[in-house]
Parts: sequence; structure tokens; C-alpha cells
Amino acid sequence: MRLMGFKLTRREFLRRSSATGALATAGAVSLKGESHPLGWAGARRTEEIATNCEMCFWRCGVLAEVADGKVLKLSGNPAHPLTGGRLCAKGSAGTALLYDPDRLKFPMLRTGARGEGKFKRITWDEALDLFAARLNELKEKYGPESVAFFPHGVASTWFGTLMKAFGTPNAAEPAFAQCRGPREVGYALTFGQGLGSIEPVDLAESKLIVLIGTHIGENVFTSQVTAFAEGLARGARLIVVDPRFSTAASKADWWLPIRPGTDIALLLAWMNVLITEEIYDKEYIARYAQGLPELAAHVKQFTPAWAETITELPAEKIRQTARAMSQAKPAVALHPGRHATWYGDDTQRSRAMAILTALLGSWGRKGGIFLPTPLKTGRFSLPPFPQPKRARVDGAGTRFPLASEEQGVTNGLVDASVAAKPYPIKGWVVYGQNVLESIPRRENTLQAIEQLEFLVVVDLLPMEQVNYADLVLPEATYLERYDMPQIAESAKKPYIAVRQPVVDPLYETKPGWWIARELARRLGLEAYFPWGTPEEHLNKLVEPLQVSVSELRTNGAVAFAGRPYIEDRLAADGPLFPTESGKIQLYSPVLKQLGFDPLPRYVPVEDPPLGYFRLIYGRAPVHAFGRSQNNAILDGLMPENEAWISSEAARGTGVSEGQRVVLENQDGVKGLPIKVRVTSGIRSDCLYMVHGFGNQSPALRRAYRKGASDADLMTQVKVDPIMGGTGMRVNFVRLLTDFESVQGG
Ligand code: SF4
Repeated sequence: MRLMGFKLTRREFLRRSSATGALATAGAVSLKGESHPLGWAGARRTEEIATNCEMCFWRCGVLAEVADGKVLKLSGNPAHPLTGGRLCAKGSAGTALLYDPDRLKFPMLRTGARGEGKFKRITWDEALDLFAARLNELKEKYGPESVAFFPHGVASTWFGTLMKAFGTPNAAEPAFAQCRGPREVGYALTFGQGLGSIEPVDLAESKLIVLIGTHIGENVFTSQVTAFAEGLARGARLIVVDPRFSTAASKADWWLPIRPGTDIALLLAWMNVLITEEIYDKEYIARYAQGLPELAAHVKQFTPAWAETITELPAEKIRQTARAMSQAKPAVALHPGRHATWYGDDTQRSRAMAILTALLGSWGRKGGIFLPTPLKTGRFSLPPFPQPKRARVDGAGTRFPLASEEQGVTNGLVDASVAAKPYPIKGWVVYGQNVLESIPRRENTLQAIEQLEFLVVVDLLPMEQVNYADLVLPEATYLERYDMPQIAESAKKPYIAVRQPVVDPLYETKPGWWIARELARRLGLEAYFPWGTPEEHLNKLVEPLQVSVSELRTNGAVAFAGRPYIEDRLAADGPLFPTESGKIQLYSPVLKQLGFDPLPRYVPVEDPPLGYFRLIYGRAPVHAFGRSQNNAILDGLMPENEAWISSEAARGTGVSEGQRVVLENQDGVKGLPIKVRVTSGIRSDCLYMVHGFGNQSPALRRAYRKGASDADLMTQVKVDPIMGGTGMRVNFVRLLTDFESVQGG
């Protein structure tokens, strides 16, 4: 593997970054490919700077070893309270993002047709003047609400402030409607609060871990994988519910290869066993919960025998696993999952998981789900934000009554842009989000883009969406910028962690905070940015925590005492269950009032048509979404994805291991060619692929057209009526072997 003149063998990279698939301890990858004592690399002195990783959202602690303004290597920061000295392969490969020759390097203005990818270079002054002028034009012509904001990630906070100050209520990020939204709503309806990120699951202390579709080990977040491994090493038993024999399933005591879309039936049957056999946590439920009689009456009919006919799991196994949970209670870590938008009934499935967690007495208990510990931080006082004259268009709070108004509904925003109703949306500001990959129904998104008068994309790399932008602004990477510090209240020991630049921004790239603030100045909104530098902002933020900023910057993070279990709680932490009743809501009056089922109910999902497989998708340990495929190191480890099908399906279709096929979905949409992986580790009605491949941007020279994109094949969604999320596991694909003549072949 070669990178910027350095050489590193694949074996060497894996040796340095591997444990449980992809974890590294301190001292990870050196771009020099040779070891040297810290503080001295060849003829150069080096220094270590603490920051945190942004290769994914877990934000593990990083130490960057820097010499002469160049990052030599990234390793885990042993002082980080959550992740210790660990980085995963993606985190270790962050240098290859920093030094990716394909990075966006200077502001650009589109000169060709939308999608053509023709631009001219302009200066930052020109770019920001134009940005501000176009926003003002739209404001004048259509009102400030006509500009929609598509943010993602921690770095978008500054832009969020700017857009609110500009006066638009229309902002939405995929973290809600394409990911965690149903889970947050389902758990909040039950316990009065969601889970947040990072997930507060007490895997290390658990006696029994339950994973429903969550594939820890393939989705690698360092501290989560470590805690999972620790829990198993201490003797925790493991139930894995997954149509695919995942890495986690290979460690399981019970692998339940469920018929896709029937998870609620299994959850109801588990509740049935716990309640009819009276083996739930009676004391906990009596003390903290409301609605047991309604729940008991509801689940009476949902026996394991009933569930067997739906889930295709033996009734006896359902009974056995329910009893195993009861024996381990309350130390049962029923993982709430993260990407939860599957079938459109996702809030109800999350509710069912939350109710089961309550029956086991696991919320706020050791080995179950722990509680956040609030941290009081400081803030600058800002002028009040203007009240938009017109309501938001994405349906949050109205059509989708329980959608988060803070995070919004991306698909609602796209649909309203296409329909130009209730009023036209004419400008999009996209920051840190890949709208073509993360929001399903790509054609719909392209249609929305087509009618825009102004599209600006702030990005690191020339992703496909960049080709459609009128204005492209190149952002500095996480190693070159400050971001909002991480306030990790949902860690067992809460902490605050800084992201700070370890080197100066390369080329003409600029940090997000700078872009937002400069734009604010041009829009006359500088009062919303009352700080001179990000350091000043950091000082204000940590003031009430009484931590030394220099210690924080040196160590990267500072931890505080946690109060993770019910018995640790203080009155100052707020109510234990901040629901309307102050108790756990097994039965939800809120849902009832809104006209939804107050208790979860199984509703059958559509089966694949004859000759088609259900398309399921997931993650690989060495890639993060669609952002990492152009990374020289990670591309070397996994250059493309594969289509997993069962041996039986391979026999039926006549395809063989390694053969390239094209996937065609139920609507006749075809993807790029993809290699087949034949395995006995998947149900015959499913096809699985890792998300994020099949990139269509020629400017991403390494990733271009490698593997296939699951997102391209998601032309159908089932929208969750409670919170607007898009269930995406409702698409079906078949294999085409003669694909030379098909589009994309
Ligand atoms: S899990 Fe890996 S990619 Fe994600 S933040 Fe940690 S080191 Fe970075």
C-alpha cells in the first residue's frame, strides 16, 4: 500500500490496527511505516497533540504525532476517559483523509450544467460575497423560509446557528429520519428520554446481551466493541436476532435468524412469556411503571406458538431465550440499535424494545442501560432568533407529530422542495451531509435539486452531490479545525472532549466555524457569533465545570463522576422518568391521544416477489458510511463491497462465488456490478451488502464505480407515521448475470 510516498504493507497495517476486527491500541499507524520513539522521528523532533476522531461519530480520543507541520501518525489517546488508547482502522487511517489528493482545495463556482462537474476556481471573498448575496436575494423574493438547511454532525452547530438567525425553520439531518429517530421517539415515549449518542448500554457489566439487527464487530465503535468483548469475556451470554450470521452471531449462545420485518412479533412473544410466567421484574414494574394490566391483556394472545408462524423461529427457542433474559435480569443489555429505520413501523418496534427493557428492570440498572449524568456548561447569551412567519415544511410536529423539530425530517424537506408546497423552497445549504446517499429515493432528491435556484455544498471531498452545486466550499478536515467540544453526558463517566487543529488547514480549505462566522458578518448576523476565536468559545463553555482549559487541551478530555444507575441519582439530575406521569409508560397515553396504537402491534410486511431477495445492508469495520471509500489505506483494506446470498439461493440462480452481477430492484433500477459472496450465513430470502460503495463521482479517483450502492436501489420507502422516518428495508432485488448492456454495466 502506497500513500503520499510512504509504504505500508496491508499485513503491517492490520497488525497495527487489528483486534476484534479492527481495533488498535495506542501506537497505531505510522505513515512512515517504521517505528520510532515518541519525540523523535528520524532527524525531526515530533510533538503529540490531543484531539478527537471524526472518521465516524463516536469521536474517540486521538493523539496526533506531528513534525514540521505534518501528521506522521494517529494513535489512540490513553488519557481519553471512554476510548482509552484505542482507535479503529478508520480512525488510524485519518491521515489518508487529510492527505487525500482528491480533496476539495478551493472555493468553486459551477460553470457547466447541474451534475456535469464543471467549475471555476474563485476566491473566498468572492465565494462568501456570492453566498450572502444569493441568500439575501432568496429572502427578498420568497422569504427566508425558502432556504433549507441540510446539516449533519457535530461540526454543523455553527451553521445551525447561522441558519436560525437567518430566519428559516427548515433544517433536517439524516441522523433522525434515516437513522436514530424512531429509537429516540420510542424510548422517550416509554422512559421520558431517548438514548442519545453514544449509546449508554452497559455491555461490559451485562450478564446477557441481546442484539436485534445490531452487528457489533462489523460496525466498530471502539469503546462499544471493547465493552462487548469484555462482557463476553466475563461470561455474559448473547442472543443475536439477525437474518444474517453476523460476526456477533458467531459469538452467540442463541442466533435467531428471524424472518425480516417480524421483530415486533418476537418482542411481543418474549413479553408474553415474561408476563404469563410471571418472571418479569415485579418489584421494579410495581414501583416505577404504569400500564401493566393493559400490556398483559394485550400480549396474552401473542404466544411463542403464534410468533413461530410469523418469525419462523421455533416457539421453544423463543421461550428459552425469554427465560434466559429473566434469569439474567436486571443485568440484561438489550441494545437499542442505532440505524433503526427499517420497515416504517420503527417507532413501535423501538417501543417494544423499550417495554421489554422495562419488564426486565434494566433501565438505569447495572448491566442494562445506564442513565445520563447532566453536565452544566456555559453559553454566550445570543439575541433572540427571529420567529419565522411561515411554518416548517417537513412535517415535523404536524404530519409527523413526534418528529424532532430540532433534527427535522429530511425526506419531508425534499418532498416539499419537489412539490413547492406549502411554499417554494428555492435554496439548499448542505453541510456535512451527503444528500444523494443518505436520503433514499435519489431520483426524488435530484428532482428537488433541479428546481433550486441556489445550492451550496460545504464538503471535504468531491462527493457526487458537489457536481450539482452552484457554489462549492472546501472545508478543513477534523485534524485541521476546531469543532464544538463534545459534552458526553451519556457516557458512564461523563466527559468533555476537545477537537482542536493538529496542523494548519491545507490548500485553501477553511474550518466550518470560520465559514459560518464570515457569512454571518456579511449577512449582518454577527451578533450571533459573539466570540473572537474558538478558544474563547471553549473557555466560556467549560467555565461552570471548573476545569483547566490547558489541561483539557493537553489531555484532550476531562471526565467527571457519573451517576449511571438509579441508586446514584440526585434530585438535581431531574426526574427519574421524565414522562407526563413521572413513571415508565408501558401503555402510551400520548400515542393513544394521537390516534396511534398505545401498545405495539405486529403488522405484516410485504414479502419479496418471486425471484427477488429482500435488500438488507450494514456496515464494515474499515469503512464509515460513504465517506471513507476514497481513503487510500481503507480502500487498500476493502476496495469494494459484495452481495451476500445463501448457498441455496446461489444454486437456484446459478451464480457462483466471486461472479459479478448487477442488482435490479422491483422498479427496474439497476446498480453497478457487484461481486457475489455465497455463504451459508444468510437466509435465502435476503441479500446483504455493505453500505457506502458504488460511488458515482469521477473526481473521487480511488472510489469511483467500485462496488455497488444500496442507496441507488432504494426507490421505495415506508414512512413511519409517528416520526416521519423512512423504512428502507422494503426494497427487493434480483440478480442479472448478463449485464453488459444494462445501464451502469
Ligand atoms: S470508532 Fe473508529 S472511526 Fe469512529 S471515532 Fe473511533 S476511531 Fe474514529
